[in-house]
Amino acid sequence: MQNQPSEIQLLRGQLTDFLQNNHLRKTPERYAILEKAVELSAHFGVDQLYNAMESAGYHVSRATVYNTLELLCEAGILNRHLFATNQARYEVARGSHLHLICRRCGAIREVDEPDLTSRLLSEPYGDFIPEYSSTIVYGICGECQAKSR
Ligand SMILES: [Zn+2]
Ligand SMILES: [Zn+2]
Repeated sequence: MQNQPSEIQLLRGQLTDFLQNNHLRKTPERYAILEKAVELSAHFGVDQLYNAMESAGYHVSRATVYNTLELLCEAGILNRHLFATNQARYEVARGSHLHLICRRCGAIREVDEPDLTSRLLSEPYGDFIPEYSSTIVYGICGECQAKSR
């Protein structure tokens, strides 16, 4: 029986292919940032990833973190979201889902709606090729409702 490759092994392979195809250097920083991104919970910002690298004793510049996250988006490994916050959030591209965002506390909950998200991505939009969706439903979360009762 063959061992299934783990998610991080697959993603490392995806990054290697992307770097090779684009004649980019396979620097250890790029792989270290990828591993941290997978480790972090969903929807992290540049600062969060930068701080996580620092506390793991891995010193890279904030610019390197930013550039690498953008590169991982290019490679289709991460999705970039522009939620209500002013900083882009990234998450490992594990398929599209809805994001329920609380207007009061900013909490983000994910809901799988495979029918809806796959429909969004299979629509014919002329010459536009859909890649992922970033669907947001705003409202008030249960915790904030309880606080205001
Ligand atoms: Zn809330
Ligand atoms: Zn998400």
